[in-house]
Amino acid sequence: MIATLKPDCTLAEKAAIIRHIESHGLRVHVGDSGERPVVSIIGSPGPDLADELGGLDGVESVSLHAPSYPLVSLGSQPGPSVVKVRDVLVGSGPVVVMAGPCSVESAQQLEAVSDGVAASGAVMLRGGAFKPRTSPYSFQGLGLEGLELLRANGDRTGLGVVSECVAPEDIDLMVDYVDMMQIGARNMQKFRLLQAVGEQPKPVLLKRGLMSTIEEFLLAAEHAMAAGNPRADMCERGVRPFDSATRSTLDISAVPVLKERTHLPVLIDPSHAAGKRSLVPRLAAAGVAAGADGLLIEVHNDPEVALSDGPQSLTLEGFKETMGMIEAVAEAVGRSVARLG
Ligand code: PEP
Ligand code: MN
Repeated sequence: MIATLKPDCTLAEKAAIIRHIESHGLRVHVGDSGERPVVSIIGSPGPDLADELGGLDGVESVSLHAPSYPLVSLGSQPGPSVVKVRDVLVGSGPVVVMAGPCSVESAQQLEAVSDGVAASGAVMLRGGAFKPRTSPYSFQGLGLEGLELLRANGDRTGLGVVSECVAPEDIDLMVDYVDMMQIGARNMQKFRLLQAVGEQPKPVLLKRGLMSTIEEFLLAAEHAMAAGNPRADMCERGVRPFDSATRSTLDISAVPVLKERTHLPVLIDPSHAAGKRSLVPRLAAAGVAAGADGLLIEVHNDPEVALSDGPQSLTLEGFKETMGMIEAVAEAVGRSVARLG
């Protein structure tokens, strides 16, 4: 439920409206749809609340057809959110490129990849230290050692660091090493995990679940925001395909669809969608053309020996060429690519 307030609603009237809603055991989010203040009711309002609110001074109208994700919905903010990750502004216009290996494997590997992606224009370093692997016998990540390597290379190159968090109990450790907490596709609906990343201070990179609808994706972001974290980016990474030609099917329409529904920045991960290196540059370019605020791209200095996702990882040279393509497409659609200050 959403109550739209009159443009001349006084502070005292607004306070009385909020008190009334809270007296029903509900929470409120006061936003601004651009013209008028909007009060979103968070929780499950009883049947009489709409009538009661309609009778209060300062209320212009009450809508029962509010989105079920009031905090992430477009109307809850004056405009699109800009999510600050260290010095990088995601959603401010220029395309933000986050790149790095699927998994952090060794000091030598991460140093080579960090230097390579920084030289080609990435502004953030990605890399998994805790890996959610389908098989328990696959490489599970270096854990703390991986986090230390990420931090060291982030500090050395100036790249911000994003890494996946797979369990609430890892957050206290991770928060000292990463600039952004990634929630992976397999965990998009782990609600306790979403709540836990919502309660910690770093911005969240939320990836779409393999079988998730857009509504479920938005509600997952709502979980993190409802727990208190105002900074989240949403990342489309492909959904379960019916055809084995690609690893997942990149839902490019997720970009404009999400842009119509949420103020949160939207990213594209062409790597996990493609599953195949040769397809990544064009999917990345498509993301830029579709209006994505950023890209998450896997890069490895020697993909043939990568411990995870080698077939979809770009070589350093391939990443450099892809950045050239991304820049050309950005320019063609009146955009630019973010650079480190
Ligand atoms: C990853 O980014 O390495 C990853 C595991 O991605 P996803 O959760 O989208 O599969
Ligand atoms: Mn991966």
